[in-house]
Amino acid sequence: QVRVRYAPSPTGTLHVGGVRTALFNWLFARKNGGTFVLRIEDTDLERSTEESVEQLKSSLRWIGLDWDEGPEVGGPHEPYRQTERLDLYREAAQRLLDEGKAYYDFATPEELAELRRQAQAEKRAPIYTGGEYREMDLEEALRRVEAGEAHTVRFKTPRNGETTFTDMIRGEISFENKNLEDFVIMKSSGTPTYNFAAAVDDATMRITHVIRGDDHISNTPRQILIYKALGYPVPPFAHVPQVLGPDKKKLSKRHGAASAEEFAEQGVLPEALFNYLALLGAGYAADEEIFSPDELARRFRIEKVSGNPAVFDETKLLAVNATYLRRKSPEELAMLAAPALAESGVASADELERDMGRLTEIMALLRERLQRTTDIPDAASYFYGDELDYDEEEFEKQFGKPFVRENFSEMVARLKALDRWDDETLEATIRGFAEEKEKGARHIIHPLRFAATGRTVSAGLFETLALLGKERTIKRLEAAER
Ligand code: GLU
Repeated sequence: QVRVRYAPSPTGTLHVGGVRTALFNWLFARKNGGTFVLRIEDTDLERSTEESVEQLKSSLRWIGLDWDEGPEVGGPHEPYRQTERLDLYREAAQRLLDEGKAYYDFATPEELAELRRQAQAEKRAPIYTGGEYREMDLEEALRRVEAGEAHTVRFKTPRNGETTFTDMIRGEISFENKNLEDFVIMKSSGTPTYNFAAAVDDATMRITHVIRGDDHISNTPRQILIYKALGYPVPPFAHVPQVLGPDKKKLSKRHGAASAEEFAEQGVLPEALFNYLALLGAGYAADEEIFSPDELARRFRIEKVSGNPAVFDETKLLAVNATYLRRKSPEELAMLAAPALAESGVASADELERDMGRLTEIMALLRERLQRTTDIPDAASYFYGDELDYDEEEFEKQFGKPFVRENFSEMVARLKALDRWDDETLEATIRGFAEEKEKGARHIIHPLRFAATGRTVSAGLFETLALLGKERTIKRLEAAER
């Protein structure tokens, strides 16, 4: 039974790199009919915030990464927040102390700093090996602990040999134990370090595969030593590379957007981000293809994930986003559009609600041209309101042409005389007019489009005019006659 976990530290928003790591865990779980666990690693009390916990959960839900065990949903290994599991770490540390696999360390911060200075002066790596404390008699150490002396608990790292593991993405990775030092497992505050808490949790939560960011590679040998010391089987690991911007620097807001929330704010649909990130650097030929989450899970292979950093390509993401927008029904898009249009002041909530049918038709017309949901207010704005602000320079260009100057009013009069106001009638009338004047239709279509929408580019003119309605169209065309 496969069990994987995503274990964020709630110290900020959910970065795309984190989304991708969470996603790979989720896909791996779904592919194997396993369990996806969410665990909140909040032992860093200074940096962890409740706000971040909420953001992480809502971002994961937004993108569709539902967890089978974890905060809110519960599960057999509750609680799923490290600050609520402190007893477990204390018990595990006690066991290691009792078995002589860990020791109390009374070195003061000043002493440790001095050792680091010495090492630096001698150009050695500052590797702490416990001095007199590593082999100190437990009875004596306990007396000092009980007397209230400040201390940490350190792991007795073997002096020789290597700790080796086979990464599912990168193959064999080896560390010399002597370089790992006697790392702290319990801080002087009585809280566990990340390495200890994560290893104890992964072991006790029976995690079968650890899939996480590659910034943790150097932690893995330490965690393996903990598993072994506690007598737990060591799971396989997969270290997922970072997500970089096109300049090969870690993707950040500078690149446009970097967190799930920022992508949402910038009009990216969760299903598009899901689809794009699931394929990014995941060993597929084309990373713009469209697959459902189930299909992505079926195809997912952790061994295929590239060990190189993934380079985020916004153009591809937007292409995927545009596809998902096109696939939405006009009704769905209208539901998305109404609040956005009201908020941006394009139309009043009242007006929108009164005629959702019209908004639905508008969305059917605009659907093909949208890249982001945030494009909607601008794209739809000319369907609402009466007056337009024309760009004067463009106006001159359109209306300065002799053919337009001479014929525009007549065209408007013909349209005004129409009894029917639908695409076909409009098309027949406008094309007929151009033919009559022995001009290509574009000579009248362009100025009409500009006068009716204030744009040089819009959806098809006939559909657009039909949806604008006769009254609004004529008002605008007459205003353009000046
Ligand atoms: N809490 C760690 C982080 O946010 C992840 C730990 C892990 O996956 O082992 O970077």
